[in-house]
Amino acid sequence: MSADCEFISRRALAVDASGIRKVFDLAAKLADPINLSIGLPDFDVPEIAKRAAIEAIESGHNRYTQTQGIAPLRERLRKDLSAEFGRDVGEVLITSGVSGGLFLAILATIDPGDEAIFLDPYFVMYKHLLTLAGGKPVMVDSYPDFRFHADRVEKAITPHTKLLILNSPSNPTGIVMTEAEVKSAVDLARKHDLLLISDEIYEAFLYDSPGGLPSPARLYDCTLVLRGFSKSHAMTGWRLGYAAGPDAIISQMTKLQQYTFVCAPSPMQYAALKALDVPMRDAVDAYRRKRDLVYERLSAKFQIARPQGAFYVFPQAPTGQRASDFVAKAIGRNVLMIPGNVFSERDTHFRISYATSDEKLEKGCEILLSMA
Ligand code: PMP
Repeated sequence: MSADCEFISRRALAVDASGIRKVFDLAAKLADPINLSIGLPDFDVPEIAKRAAIEAIESGHNRYTQTQGIAPLRERLRKDLSAEFGRDVGEVLITSGVSGGLFLAILATIDPGDEAIFLDPYFVMYKHLLTLAGGKPVMVDSYPDFRFHADRVEKAITPHTKLLILNSPSNPTGIVMTEAEVKSAVDLARKHDLLLISDEIYEAFLYDSPGGLPSPARLYDCTLVLRGFSKSHAMTGWRLGYAAGPDAIISQMTKLQQYTFVCAPSPMQYAALKALDVPMRDAVDAYRRKRDLVYERLSAKFQIARPQGAFYVFPQAPTGQRASDFVAKAIGRNVLMIPGNVFSERDTHFRISYATSDEKLEKGCEILLSMA
């Protein structure tokens, strides 16, 4: 061990660097890549929100806010979520992105040895945050349809299981849980006395759900909902999210926020309040069309579970090829994507983000089809 290394905690060493970063480093070396690896919208922050952020800065909203966030934003979100879930959701906590909400939620609930279940493929942060907290990530394989199979999940429940983490619409598969699947998840949580954490960051990007997102929070009070503005309003750099759920958990998360993030960025909270009134329907319609384009093109030669939300598809690599090798070959042909083993214990699939121009999508699909 080099001298530099002696200072590093076992906790930090237990976590791998994000595989997504490795692709970003490769991307930096390509002149004009067809970049299908990006996990954020290709539209810009709505003009109204930009103006509101500038006004907030100019009018002096540059100091700490209350730990839990500014009152008008919290009240507005409480009202909206309560109307959606059909009950008063209680105090809402404004977090530094959904990442901040996840960090606080896991810190507030997981003791060493506690287990948390989520589907594989999964959003990478779940696994690593649980490891950091001394908990045990328990992945339940959801291949090949990526649906919520209650029987598989129930087999993974032990006396140590505390959390069931749901992510619908899902990163990386784009799958949206049906009402029936949500109900089966809630039934399991009730039966085994589990807290549900519902990561709903892609809630704005729903293509086939006219009734809105089937959220477990509509059925089960012991659900912690995490949502944010990063994806819905293309504000990934503004670091804004929010959490609503059982009072005891929100109040512990608020206490922990005091000693970690302190508060979410102040001017952005004022801007987010304005952003809530900007209709994002056109953007969602455009992404539905892109979903159709990519799904229709690629399913001619690739196995794909048809996505209903977010802005990802998760096709299977051609038979006989490891997905990471296939992705390396695609990168050699200027198409950037993320190998599925970044999100999974398997190395069989790859993630494409269609949050880019139609022209790049057409070109990217053409190259991938020629490689299949
Ligand atoms: N959850 C999921 C499923 C995500 O894909 C992301 C971002 N890629 C996050 C949470 C975190 O987003 P943010 O911290 O920007 O709100």
